[in-house]
Amino acid sequence: MPFCLVRADITKFSADAIVNAANSSLLGGGGVDGAIHRAAGPELLAECRLLGGCETGQAKATKGYGLGCKHIIHTVGPVWEDGEQGERELLQSCYRNSLALAESLGCKSIAFPLISAGVYGYPKREAIEVAESEARRFLEDHEMDITLVIFDKDSFEISYERFEGIRQFIDDAYAKIREDKERGRREMMGSAACFNAPAAAAAVLKDEEAKPKKKGLFGQAKKTESAVPDFDACDVAEECAAEDYFSMRDESFSQALLRLIDERGMTDVEAYKRANIDRKLFSKIRSDVHYKPKKQTAVAFAVALKLDIRETEDLLSKAGYALSNSLDFDLIVKYHIVHGIYDIFEINDALFRFDQTLLGQN
Ligand code: ADP
Repeated sequence: MPFCLVRADITKFSADAIVNAANSSLLGGGGVDGAIHRAAGPELLAECRLLGGCETGQAKATKGYGLGCKHIIHTVGPVWEDGEQGERELLQSCYRNSLALAESLGCKSIAFPLISAGVYGYPKREAIEVAESEARRFLEDHEMDITLVIFDKDSFEISYERFEGIRQFIDDAYAKIREDKERGRREMMGSAACFNAPAAAAAVLKDEEAKPKKKGLFGQAKKTESAVPDFDACDVAEECAAEDYFSMRDESFSQALLRLIDERGMTDVEAYKRANIDRKLFSKIRSDVHYKPKKQTAVAFAVALKLDIRETEDLLSKAGYALSNSLDFDLIVKYHIVHGIYDIFEINDALFRFDQTLLGQN
């Protein structure tokens, strides 16, 4: 997946390049720097000594040694003072320079810690935002798997207004399910009570008989509302010409996706980039008419195409999926679609916060 957030120890993470949040001496320190030096072994320090330090915002590379990656990219983040000392620009250059260096070294994947967000005191939320926007910017015209490795849980534990809204949405959906179950239970108990009370049953029967029967055109009892099957496809068929409807019904996920991309006037590249899907996976889907994507991939395309809930359900059904009201993942996706939020990074932020699989992965 082009951009991904994971909760892990970066020294255990596998990528072509691992980024170190170093200090300007490059001679090791605490936090992630200390952990990387411990895992890589003394040869790393020996190579670092030859580099002559590094300026804030710049990046230098060494070999990976015991860390198991091809390269370690050492970058020096800014120390947070008050946000008015160019901290953001310096942090942006850490990401830009590290990514450019990784690209020049031929790396296909890179993992970053949350630079400056430890001892250097950069506010975590803002640090994450800088990391995400720099990754997004780079991925607009490059191909690389970029992972932001979040070490400490509290980076995402802060209660943001948006996450509160999502939490509420999830709670409401679950409350509704509980209410419906409770109502169903009460109704069942009610009918059981009637069953056990012949007098009450007789009264109901009498009441029913007393009602005039509604007659239809040919004297038959008219169908009540509930007798008409609640069949969603009827609505769909109404909207489409019958012919289109039947040809669409047999469409595979891959065919539907390509049709929707065309209908939206998007290029393939735009679609897969917005979906946080890499080129290789998109080519697979394109070339295999029967390709069955994972649910998070199918949803990622629905988001990239800005489909509404119904269109999303329609696309998902082509791959054999649906959105339910009893899964956090589905509800978080629904929340964003219902609120017109189609930014995959923003949705993934929320999914990550709620410990769910991210969109785009396969
Ligand atoms: P800085 O001096 O740039 O603030 P720190 O090492 O103090 O660097 O912290 C940077 C970020 O790295 C913090 O969010 C911290 O929680 C995180 N971190 C510390 N150890 C690890 C690790 N082993 N893997 C990934 N991230 C880590």
